[in-house]
Amino acid sequence: MLDQVMDTTTRAERVIQIWQQICGDPQYGSLIDGRVRRGEGEAITILDPASGGQLLHYPDAGAKLAREAAQAADRARQAWYRDMTAAQRGRVMWQAAQQVRDSIEQLAELEALSAGKPIRDTRVEATKVAEMFEYYAGWCDKLYGEVIPVPTSHLNYTQRIPHGVVAQVTPWNAPVFTGGWQIAPALAAGNTVVIKPSELTPLSTVALGCLLQKAGVPTGAVNVLAGFGGTTGAAMFAAPEVQLAVFVGSPETGRVVARTAADRLIPCILELGGKSANVVFEDADLAKAAGGAAAGIYAAAGQSCVASSRLLVQKSVYEDVLERLVEKARSLQMGVPEDPETQVGPLNGAAQQSRVLDYIEKARSAGARVLCGGRPQGPGHYVEPTVIADVGNDWEIAQEEIFGPVVVAMPFEDEAEAVRLTNQTRFGLAGAVWSGRVERAHRVAGQIEAGTVWINGYKTIGVMSPFGGFKESGFGRSSGREALMEYTRSRSIWTETSEDPKMAFGY
Ligand code: NAD
Repeated sequence: MLDQVMDTTTRAERVIQIWQQICGDPQYGSLIDGRVRRGEGEAITILDPASGGQLLHYPDAGAKLAREAAQAADRARQAWYRDMTAAQRGRVMWQAAQQVRDSIEQLAELEALSAGKPIRDTRVEATKVAEMFEYYAGWCDKLYGEVIPVPTSHLNYTQRIPHGVVAQVTPWNAPVFTGGWQIAPALAAGNTVVIKPSELTPLSTVALGCLLQKAGVPTGAVNVLAGFGGTTGAAMFAAPEVQLAVFVGSPETGRVVARTAADRLIPCILELGGKSANVVFEDADLAKAAGGAAAGIYAAAGQSCVASSRLLVQKSVYEDVLERLVEKARSLQMGVPEDPETQVGPLNGAAQQSRVLDYIEKARSAGARVLCGGRPQGPGHYVEPTVIADVGNDWEIAQEEIFGPVVVAMPFEDEAEAVRLTNQTRFGLAGAVWSGRVERAHRVAGQIEAGTVWINGYKTIGVMSPFGGFKESGFGRSSGREALMEYTRSRSIWTETSEDPKMAFGY
């Protein structure tokens, strides 16, 4: 409940306790070359999302530590890639999964308290991190090349080889989940890693780094920088040791990272934002569709890249679906992150809260119907599950990523209009079709310009399936076998097999 907020001091004490249990060090900082190192930059304050108070401070890692982290990762390539066999790496990855499994409760609590996510969600996310290491453990010794039937006397084969040092940046909405999502395939492919989580939520990723080390990942193979993007993150991507840039976050920052990668002529993977649509046809199971619409936007208080922030409903059932959704939205339990009953927690910060509330007010002034939601009474950075009806698809609120528990709804006439509206966005991360007719569901799903589409469901993702965006939602794929293709390059080897080879001059 909003009026049962644990005080910030108690929360901070618990955070410190868990941190020390996992990392064994009294100070917060970055994990570099196997040690927790204190930064030398500006002090950063982590605010308690549930009360708005100050949780703790730590100094920005800064450019010097960022370079040291990249150098440590470069040195660790010897131990992780050259000295170990692929099967040995797989066994270490499996140990890593075990370490994470044994620490699910601690990771979940640390994440809930410091990032403000409900503990029921952070438990699932921490479990999924263990699954990521389990899945990729099995891949380590199955990354092999091909033999190509060339028209000469050569044996031509390919190898899949790692890029080397990979630099990764993640956002604040699911730090430990996103950290595992990127670290696991990078390591399985034989790379070493420097990762910088958001300055607002660094603790769980540093803790994950400590667990990986306990599992036997060589010192320096995974380094975690705690600090700002513009200082520490930029210096990390600029480090000459870094050979692949991976960025998960907003399109605005993604552009900056892509420019750096272009200047350095290194490849990059971008996983950016979304404005995904739930498309409900009149022949759908409306109760399930309304439930899916609620889960798609209100889970994680809408701070999810795949949040279903647009709801498109066929005109004949528009009011019916809205009524069901409002009822569902009002029934969700808002509360403090550590309460296992909490379904909707606070937003990560005050700035995010006022940004979300501003969007709601703008939509109201533009004539939309705000059916429920807004700012609740009490402390913390909360926004109630909000439904805004009769919004034009070209309105700012239907085009910009809000990153809060706010869904905008609009009616459509027919299939053609549904597809047109769904794709009328600069994003292309995800979407869903709700229909009782299998032909229609597949037909429409096949026309949605997005990297992930659900039929009669929302938000299921798994480490074994590829994930990524179309259009301004980014490029490159995380997870599944495809992530391993991103995290490796091929090398083609031509071996002469003839005693009397014909030497080619020219091709
Ligand atoms: P953000 O872009 O503001 O920050 C993301 C990260 O970039 C942070 O760690 C930040 O410190 C860092 N950063 C900032 N400037 C940088 C620079 N110059 N160089 C290097 N790093 C820099 O995003 P956010 O507000 O933390 O997160 C929300 C966004 O993330 C939303 O747009 C959301 O959709 C997106 N997101 C996408 C996915 C996905 O998989 N597609 C997943 C989660 C979140």
